[in-house]
Amino acid sequence: MLTKEVEEILQKLRSCGFEAYVVGGCVRDFLLGKTPSDWDIATSATPDEVMRIFKNAKPTGLQHGTVTVGHGYEVTTFRIDGNYSDGRHPDQVVFSKDIEQDLARRDFTINAMAHDGNTFLDPFGGQIGLEKRILKCVGRARERFREDGLRIMRALRFASVYDLSIEFDTNCAIHECKDLLRNIAVERIRDELCKLLCGKAALRILMSYRDVLSLIIPQLHPCVGFAQNNPYHCFTVYDHIAHAVAAYDGSDISVKMALLLHDIGKPDSYTEDDRGGHFYGHPEISKNIAEKVMRDLRFDNATASEVVHLVGYHDAGIAPTKRSIRCWLNKIGPELFEKLLWVSEADRKSHTPGTQDKKLAELSEIRKLLKDILAENDCFSLKNLVVNGRDIIALGIPEGKRVGEILEWLLNEVIEERLENERKILLEKAQEYKTSIL
Ligand code: ATP
Ligand code: MG
Repeated sequence: MLTKEVEEILQKLRSCGFEAYVVGGCVRDFLLGKTPSDWDIATSATPDEVMRIFKNAKPTGLQHGTVTVGHGYEVTTFRIDGNYSDGRHPDQVVFSKDIEQDLARRDFTINAMAHDGNTFLDPFGGQIGLEKRILKCVGRARERFREDGLRIMRALRFASVYDLSIEFDTNCAIHECKDLLRNIAVERIRDELCKLLCGKAALRILMSYRDVLSLIIPQLHPCVGFAQNNPYHCFTVYDHIAHAVAAYDGSDISVKMALLLHDIGKPDSYTEDDRGGHFYGHPEISKNIAEKVMRDLRFDNATASEVVHLVGYHDAGIAPTKRSIRCWLNKIGPELFEKLLWVSEADRKSHTPGTQDKKLAELSEIRKLLKDILAENDCFSLKNLVVNGRDIIALGIPEGKRVGEILEWLLNEVIEERLENERKILLEKAQEYKTSIL
């Protein structure tokens, strides 16, 4: 089970008379048949003792008793956490000689198991939890959430990622204690949210915890229960959003966030006539809300900008023609365009079944055409136009705005298939243009 280096670290601690185990996420991941992404080691040795035993050790979190050994292995002294008066961090950490005390401070039973290569410790029934696929707090759920409100988001994240159902009492406590999230750093909430959205049970979690989602993104609140009153939508706005998030099974976070926010402006744009409900202009309203949400959740600028664009364009028509696709590629570039196709597909898949078949077939056609355009190196941007600014200036057009305008015009003619991307042809056209304007 253990890697050679982990085995050696445990061995060395034991040979010096200490207990040492791998604990937490790595034991859980191993039991799930996954290769652990990181190995956390817990020991009865104090940080000073660990520093003395391993010459290359670095103190990386001494306030929690953590020392990093070898290639990034965190070795943490068994500990009992004191009171949590800030609702997130223990006021003080007391070192312990008892692994069971260390396991008792951990959040969920599936995260509170330890292994030393021979002995497996599971005092709270984490293994059976994994077998039965149940997520349950260690100890009293409400107390555990009051100690650290982030555990509410961690619960939803683990349940989504590992497809676990949340045990009755833990579930009630999440709903009751959700307001504790107001005191948690948004960056931490955001990171858990991202993992939740990419989880395989994201739909179930989004549908079961509408209250928590509307707390962390208050603009989602009006979407909950908002009926759309039109034949294309069998779901309320919020439930459509949840289905759309889940209908994209990739892990690009811009796509996931764009799906979460794409219709968030619908309640503000609702009108009704004898044909039913309409949401004219909702992409623009959603886009403005998305901008604020992405800022409030402190996403990096690059992700925020992608999401805002995707939300704004989510309903824009993309015709299944090479011309239209080249226009899009010129406007937003191939990477974002591909993401827009994912958004569009997941959105369509979450409409009333049967109403979007034509649009979905069109999207497949668009993907095929896109592949051809990229494979054939078709021209869709100034970068692959065979003439550049210097060529235009060489025709006697003075440097300045005009040069750019001419290049844009030539590019548009190429995209629209009125001209071929050939040097001679383009230079001739530019020459004609010059004569016409001078
Ligand atoms: P992953 O690394 O896959 O995101 P993980 O469970 O390993 O998940 P870490 O943040 O690496 O999460 O934490 C390692 C272990 O520390 C957890 O398995 C758990 O035992 C404990 N732990 C982490 N965060 C908390 C918390 N907020 N409250 C209680 N225990 C926690
Ligand atoms: Mg981990």
